[in-house]
Amino acid sequence: MAVDCLKLADEIIAGKKLEESDDLSFFLAADLAELRQGADRIRAHFCGDKVDLCTIISGKEGRCSENCKFCAQSAHHHTGCEVHDLLDEDEVLAAARANQEEGVDRFAMVNSGRRPTEEDFEKIIGIYTRMRDELKIGLCCSLGFLTSEQFRRLKEAGVTAIHCNIETSLRNFPNVCTTHTFAEKIENIRRAQAEGLSVCSGGIIGMGETWQDRIDMAFTLRSLGIRSVPVNSLMPIKGTPMENLSRLTEEDIIRTICIFRYINPEADIRLAGGRSLMADNGKSAFSSGASASITGNMLTTSGSTIRQDKEMLAELGRDTTPDRERSGCGCR
Ligand code: SF4
Repeated sequence: MAVDCLKLADEIIAGKKLEESDDLSFFLAADLAELRQGADRIRAHFCGDKVDLCTIISGKEGRCSENCKFCAQSAHHHTGCEVHDLLDEDEVLAAARANQEEGVDRFAMVNSGRRPTEEDFEKIIGIYTRMRDELKIGLCCSLGFLTSEQFRRLKEAGVTAIHCNIETSLRNFPNVCTTHTFAEKIENIRRAQAEGLSVCSGGIIGMGETWQDRIDMAFTLRSLGIRSVPVNSLMPIKGTPMENLSRLTEEDIIRTICIFRYINPEADIRLAGGRSLMADNGKSAFSSGASASITGNMLTTSGSTIRQDKEMLAELGRDTTPDRERSGCGCR
């Protein structure tokens, strides 16, 4: 069925919601330029020109009990990844401060493991409490499966958003991980939301899923009320069970970002890992529905990539000024 993507974009702006029962096969056949134009129109209406930038630090790496097939940090694989215990408080503070000074909106500690030990959790609370008291940058974290009490304590320590990717669709999840389930992910997300935390959740494309899996994933995220959706493109890592999967094409990545925008019109669609699979390091994604990005070099705090991203986004007429630096009430 041929669908006029620009007309559909206008209908979505006027309030139409795509439904899982709709025939969405047009997404695969649609002219990419037209699909992108519609996605960009939806983005401009719901998200404006602001691009939300976040950075992450690897608070703890390696030796993870879980067997996510894409991940270098799983103890089930043999990747030779870096292994270290929880970073020192001052090191995390310094990284967060550097990112704040570079004009990044949000900063997150991302730790390997199913959940932190009790001892590490107390240290993490101490680190976030200091960041809350000493800095203005928005605080997020990615710490695995936590209890309601732990989410509550993180919120008190200044965390406003939890990161917990659903990774893929319900159908495809067992092909990606068997040490925990899709349902456990959803329960974790709901526990965090029940404590008043915002949740950032998306996944990775290129893990053997079908287009229907990607569409299902976008609908699951919408049903959970997720307002920040990271889209990673698999970079197959040697030593993981996914090392021989073929790399995604740029067209596949852009089409997926467009689809996520049409299905989740109001969410931030956040460009994440795998940007180097795109010729322009992801520039075209920002004209295809993306409204946010992980920046920096993912694991360190080098300012050059942040600066380059800001320059690239300025060329596109996009605004990367953090809300905290705006005059007035700071509303967006
Ligand atoms: S739980 Fe996280 S760190 Fe552990 S294997 Fe899965 S993705 Fe990697």
